Amino acid sequence: MTPPTSIYLHIPFCKHRCAYCDFNTYAGQEAMIPAYVEALIKEIEWLGKRLPFTNYQSTQTIFFGGGTPSLLSESQFDSVMSALSSAFTLSASAEVTIEANPGTISPEKLDAIRKAGINRISFGVQSTVTEELQMLERSHDFFTVIDAVTTARKAGFDNLNLDLIYALPEQTLQSWQTTVKRILELEPEHISAYALTLEHGTPFGRWSQRGLLPIPDPDLAADMYEWTMDYLATSGYTQYEISNWAKQSAEDRRLKAEAPAFACHHNIQYWRSLPYFGLGAGAHGYAGGYRYSNALRIKTYIDRLTNSEISNLPFPISPAAVNHHKQTQQDDISDYMINNLRLVNAGIADSDFRSRFGAGLLEIFPKEIDELIRTGLLEKKTSDGSEVFRLTKRGRLLGNQVFMRFVN
Ligand code: SF4
Repeated sequence: MTPPTSIYLHIPFCKHRCAYCDFNTYAGQEAMIPAYVEALIKEIEWLGKRLPFTNYQSTQTIFFGGGTPSLLSESQFDSVMSALSSAFTLSASAEVTIEANPGTISPEKLDAIRKAGINRISFGVQSTVTEELQMLERSHDFFTVIDAVTTARKAGFDNLNLDLIYALPEQTLQSWQTTVKRILELEPEHISAYALTLEHGTPFGRWSQRGLLPIPDPDLAADMYEWTMDYLATSGYTQYEISNWAKQSAEDRRLKAEAPAFACHHNIQYWRSLPYFGLGAGAHGYAGGYRYSNALRIKTYIDRLTNSEISNLPFPISPAAVNHHKQTQQDDISDYMINNLRLVNAGIADSDFRSRFGAGLLEIFPKEIDELIRTGLLEKKTSDGSEVFRLTKRGRLLGNQVFMRFVN
């Protein structure tokens, strides 16, 4: 039987396009939100009609990402959530997350989305230092973040993530430490911390190529990351993924679970290489043996769902998809290695690898594993009678070097 699946819905609208961002998102297109929501509901219904002919049983996580999903109105959330519950069997304990910018929520909106079934919020905080936020072109300050967290708590949200970015231009170790310490005072259940990446095609990418962005050197960025790992570990947070930490709960200590209760279970679905449906402009999905991606532009996405009469597409490829690719076993193995090794505690159990691919890890990658262990990037332990391979602390810093070894 196919394992439970997850659903990602992309909401590609932002009030302003930040200079570092390369997500598929558009500013000044809010007039298209109603038509976009209608198209999204069509895509949900399109998949829902085909689900009875598949093995997919239930949905355990839903994630509204963006862009700025919190720009949708209360009634638009309600319509999308109703369409999802009609089309899919949502598990009773489904984790339903919405990404939000701290300045885009109100008590009324939070009450409404909570009633619609959303139970987790991921706030894009990035920094608590005013100058850094201004340089990132973010419209909030730390006081807006405090307000957003307080309002979310009052509305009954007991599972909050705060997203941070380090290695910002002109950032010092001390200013990064200030951000992390201030964030901890808000007692989030989850913290994500990613190093800034300078993407081609963004203003930050261009400015950096011209030498105009004084970004921290790699050693300082590594110091920031190492300090974060140590500091969060002594502050009651478990690092379960390269860039993600969850507050330890009494339940975690009792169950010694592979993933902490407050981990982002939606992202674990990706990191475990388990199926998910991607809906919305530019969304990616992985299900039925396919990886696929939808049209990037909002108008194209709407048009493809509104005017399409295509009916002979293989499940789960919808008329919105512009690319789909049947995975080979080799593709699946590479993806599995790159995704699963990100889970720094759980790592890869040889028994799981064997049950998916019919051979042990050391049979497929004897040279690579041996070399990565010898160079101190990977370690081997035994858990529940199975050999488990995972990144060492040094391997977390040099993750890309490790992943390269498994690309086919
Ligand atoms: S608000 Fe977030 S998604 Fe939107 S442009 Fe800025 S960084 Fe990108």
